Amino acid sequence: MTIPFFPPDLFEQDRRAFKELLYEVGTDPEQKFILGRRTAELEDELRASTGAEHVIACSSGTGGLNLAVQALGVGPGDEVIVPAFCCQPVASSVANLGATPVFADVDPHTMVIDPDSVEKLITERTRAVMPAHVFSIMADMPRINKIARAHGIKVIEDAAVAEGAVLDGVPSGRWGDLGVFSFFQVKAFGTAGEGGVVLTDDPELARTVRMLRNHGQDGVNRFLHHRIGQNSRFDEILAAFQLHRHAGFEDRLERRARIADYYTERFAPLADRGVLAPPAGRNGRCYYVYSLLVRRRGDLRSWLIEKGIGSHVYYPVPLPRQPAFAAWAPQGAEWPGAQYASDHNLAIPIWPHLSDEQVTYIADSVCEFFD
Ligand SMILES: *Cc1c(COP(=O)(O)O)cnc(C)c1O
Repeated sequence: MTIPFFPPDLFEQDRRAFKELLYEVGTDPEQKFILGRRTAELEDELRASTGAEHVIACSSGTGGLNLAVQALGVGPGDEVIVPAFCCQPVASSVANLGATPVFADVDPHTMVIDPDSVEKLITERTRAVMPAHVFSIMADMPRINKIARAHGIKVIEDAAVAEGAVLDGVPSGRWGDLGVFSFFQVKAFGTAGEGGVVLTDDPELARTVRMLRNHGQDGVNRFLHHRIGQNSRFDEILAAFQLHRHAGFEDRLERRARIADYYTERFAPLADRGVLAPPAGRNGRCYYVYSLLVRRRGDLRSWLIEKGIGSHVYYPVPLPRQPAFAAWAPQGAEWPGAQYASDHNLAIPIWPHLSDEQVTYIADSVCEFFD
């Protein structure tokens, strides 16, 4: 059996629909290929499914973070606290505006930002904190929000991987002043291209994000630029495709969740062999990838390769240890949780169209290694 980590046939079932939508948008007399009625319809659908007051489609998850940070008016002299173990746009979205990304450590088990580390890094220049949900687990949003409120700072919730996840009854993307989802192909609600959305309940922030995504225009007066914006517009073909795909989203998430439940049950006995599975349960859990923390990671990876099973190591170098962010890594600072996560995380396949037989084979193979 060969099971690649990244599935080569993610959109196989939607092949015909995609072709039809491509034709429909391409031959539509409107000839509108960005920010048209399909984009507006997708925004409405995501408003309904998340309960957010405002949803603004944009060019990518990275684009969404860029818009969110800019909408808060962050600039030179300001600090934004971001996780040291994460995808690079959490830091570049801040640095690109001339502001300072301040790296907080992450919890070595859940791999999400550690609220204690956040609290210690708050200064009079801190404008916002940007928790990110990572892999299988949502950040501790209740504590982050409490800390942020106590210090009068804003929260940008990077929910790029976590669309559909729910913590304490509140959907991901709804916890922050602004939230961001990504449609990058392998994300929970991925697509056959680039895209994302910004979510907010704040009408003023929503208005600002809408203007910023299209060169600071207001959508009525063309070539009138209220703000210095960006090009972070969304594609009509992908809007149509995401509307088509949204119908099956809940089922695909549920399938991922069931696979995760099964893995977690199978791997629980391996805890004393140096394998830590994500905590069991459904609250605050996302199923973007299923990440283990493994002491003998290299050996397990080689074993899985022999078994024909693909695996993946995310973020092998923490952000403040990256050459690009060296200038924002204070001398002598340490991020032991982030370093631990970088050295030990190993993701195994969890895509929704894996068969039960494949899932069992993957779990068996991991367990066999420790026998
Ligand atoms: C993928 C990802 C992003 C960026 O999303 P893109 O759509 O790829 O730009 C941001 N943050 C996290 C945590 C991600 O995993």
